[in-house]
Amino acid sequence: MSACAHLDELPSAVEPSTTEGCEDCLAIGSSWVHLRLCLTCGHVGCCDSSPNQHATRHFEDVGHPVMRSFEPGEDWRWCFADEMVV
Ligand SMILES: [Zn+2]
Ligand SMILES: [Zn+2]
Ligand SMILES: [Zn+2]
Repeated sequence: MSACAHLDELPSAVEPSTTEGCEDCLAIGSSWVHLRLCLTCGHVGCCDSSPNQHATRHFEDVGHPVMRSFEPGEDWRWCFADEMVV
């Protein structure tokens, strides 16, 4: 399995845009299931089990490839571009 090259391009740390929940769901008054944190800009979006899938939408809109789980106790990362856990 080859390594994800996108990891090298990430900033060393990002500040979450909010700790309240999915920022896009909060803006439209929707709800979410799980939260994902963009490791490029700190965008907080919701997972693919959520009605609006804002984390995936964020990747499609701005192309930031790597996200991390924003759930307590979870620290796995996912690269959208490589479609694998990294
Ligand atoms: Zn990658
Ligand atoms: Zn959302
Ligand atoms: Zn981002």
